[in-house]
Amino acid sequence: MTGAAARIIDGKATAALVRASVRDGVQLLRARGAIPGLAVVLVGEDPASQVYVRNKDKAANEAGFEVTTLRLPASTTQLELERVVAGLNANDGVHGILVQLPLPKGLDSAAIVRAIDPRKDVDGLHPQNVAALAMGGPGLAPCTPAGCIELLDRHGIALEGRRVVVLGRSMLVGKPVALMCLARHATVTIAHSRTRDLPAVVGEAEILIAAVGVPRLVRGAWIRPGAVVLDVGMNRLEDGKLVGDVAFDEALQRAGAISPVPGGVGPMTIAMLLKNTAQACAATAKVPLETSPPRGA
Ligand code: NAP
Repeated sequence: MTGAAARIIDGKATAALVRASVRDGVQLLRARGAIPGLAVVLVGEDPASQVYVRNKDKAANEAGFEVTTLRLPASTTQLELERVVAGLNANDGVHGILVQLPLPKGLDSAAIVRAIDPRKDVDGLHPQNVAALAMGGPGLAPCTPAGCIELLDRHGIALEGRRVVVLGRSMLVGKPVALMCLARHATVTIAHSRTRDLPAVVGEAEILIAAVGVPRLVRGAWIRPGAVVLDVGMNRLEDGKLVGDVAFDEALQRAGAISPVPGGVGPMTIAMLLKNTAQACAATAKVPLETSPPRGA
């Protein structure tokens, strides 16, 4: 036990700072005649996707972007969707393209992501952007992992030389966030469903990033006293409550700092989407933008 409750890493407040700095960037771009445009494509009627798209549309409008939301029926074919994406690729007023996933059954999401111009892939999922992340080149980073790193940066938590354990190895969160930590000179372990003695592996972490999708999997006693815990999990319980992958109340007594669910990593995801879109527009307009604090600040 550390004796004192952990510091709360407030993602909502941090996301508001990122969004404010994106708004400033958008004003700068507009003053130079470049109006950042975001196109959001929603196929079908999935209720959760509709909420996500509404939130992204609202946040992008507030940031000063030109937002186009295309709502397509669930009956849309692969070819039709690829044509929509090709049209957006060719549209100079669109700097960011976001196709809301998951797509309805029968549509090939990987092929649709590959069809997006990598310079407009503000979700950072195109193979060219994934390769850039792995190889250390320029590109657009996936939003949730980038949100984790931005949270650490803005809370003055350095990665260099630290022991990081990432729980989960998905292409959406686990693998990219592990690569980002590695690029910041952390010593990184990736754990997954076949990892033996998970509590012992978690116990090594000075910084723990949990992205497994299992409610309250990580118990307080597993956590190294004083560790930083980022909880990426978003798990809806039967009673409607949203909880993370970490048993928050237990972890609070053990960790040095922890991001809550909701209000931790979640709000950072949309903020990083806005940041990526502003950066995609700035790259096209050749206007330098600085939307991050100095690293480790
Ligand atoms: P995913 O694709 O289902 O991947 C889950 C990963 O966790 C897999 O690598 C899996 O291992 C591992 N895992 C599952 N059960 C495990 C266990 N009992 N012990 C150890 N590892 C286990 O999920 P995801 O897309 O990465 O998302 C993870 C969580 O983050 C979900 O709750 C999701 O809702 C949330 N999320 C939040 C945001 C946000 O904006 N905050 C964004 C994206 C995702 P295997 O590879 O061995 O199967």
